Amino acid sequence: MKRYAILMLCLVATVLSGLAGAYKVDEIPNVHVANRTRYVSNPDNVLSPAAVATLDSTLSRLWRDTSSEVVVVAVNSVDGDPDEFATELFTKWGIGKKDNDNGMLVLIAKDDRKAVIRTGYGMEGVLPDILAGRIIRNIMAPHFRNGDYDNGTIASLTEIARITSTPGATEELMSKYGNDEGAGGNGGADLFKGWLAIGAILAVVLFVWFLYEMFKTRRLDRYERYQVLSKMKMPALILVFAGLGLPAISYLILWLTMRGLRLRHRNCPNCHNKMHRIDEANDNKYLTHQQDIEEQINSVDYDVWLCDHCGETDILPYINSASSYTVCPRCGARACSMRSQRIVIRPTERREGQGVKEYICRSCGNRNEIPYSIPKVVVPPVVIVGGGGRGFGGGGGGFSGGSFGGGMTGGGGASGGW
Ligand SMILES: [Zn+2]
Ligand SMILES: [Zn+2]
Repeated sequence: MKRYAILMLCLVATVLSGLAGAYKVDEIPNVHVANRTRYVSNPDNVLSPAAVATLDSTLSRLWRDTSSEVVVVAVNSVDGDPDEFATELFTKWGIGKKDNDNGMLVLIAKDDRKAVIRTGYGMEGVLPDILAGRIIRNIMAPHFRNGDYDNGTIASLTEIARITSTPGATEELMSKYGNDEGAGGNGGADLFKGWLAIGAILAVVLFVWFLYEMFKTRRLDRYERYQVLSKMKMPALILVFAGLGLPAISYLILWLTMRGLRLRHRNCPNCHNKMHRIDEANDNKYLTHQQDIEEQINSVDYDVWLCDHCGETDILPYINSASSYTVCPRCGARACSMRSQRIVIRPTERREGQGVKEYICRSCGNRNEIPYSIPKVVVPPVVIVGGGGRGFGGGGGGFSGGSFGGGMTGGGGASGGW
């Protein structure tokens, strides 16, 4: 009884696996869509993982060198005639670049004991049907008869790669779309590495620029040097962002140097003794009303240096470049801000408009109006959407996104059994 049950179980398992093995075209997993470094669809493990890895590396190298898309599908069994099946699958996946149809599908149906090499239009010249037939008969079949699917497949694909990568063949197969460098998958990592490299270069550029400015200003007064360096700050910050933060190291050096120039000692221009800086809380009595207002609205910061020896005072302004205050035309304080803005003449499609901005000075209360022009109204052109185009996969027709290039086959190639 027990033996009978086991026998039944074996029978059911065999039938089930047989059913599962008879693939329809839609059921073959397109591994390339999931990972574009893969060219071997092996859902029934007809091939060993090691063989699949070898084939993937051979075929991605072939793709990189010749832009040809050669795909291997190994299954237990296919539904219907393997020849027709191969043509249908080839067409469905669109193997090969669409400009020169340089695709090839190698189908191995183990239990059907049949192999098919299906070539795209552009591949037929390089691998004629007669040669494809010979590869199946002379390379695949002898191995397959011994149950050695790994070596039969590797040897035949190695031969196919050899034929398709001879100089003349490469010239014929190379798509005008070319290939994006490296076999897919790690494209993102490459991009990131490239970016890091750019970041490192920008960091060096910023540092060299800093050294150059320091050298150029070596004879200048500390305050003047600071003013020259402060012009670097904004472009340097842009470099920091562009370089993924890497140039921040150089920026830090710039910042520390500027801080040193501004805050560390200063010699009296009169008696050359050391001066000392009066702290912000107590420096107001040395400032004029306008300077005081500017400090309050943070448009200019003043450092007051005092010489204890001769009583000389130095008042050094540091303009806040982030501040929007402008210089008052009446009192000269950097304390003017826009209070209102109005349109005097509305712009049309034909002529510019005119407006007036009213500024008011926080220091002396002066009002002044500044006219400005408003650009003509631009009517957007009518855009016709749709019409023409190849729809999906149109751009580049390459490997991007992991799909094949949209190539076609005229049913070229060969098939054979063992
Ligand atoms: Zn002095
Ligand atoms: Zn004013």
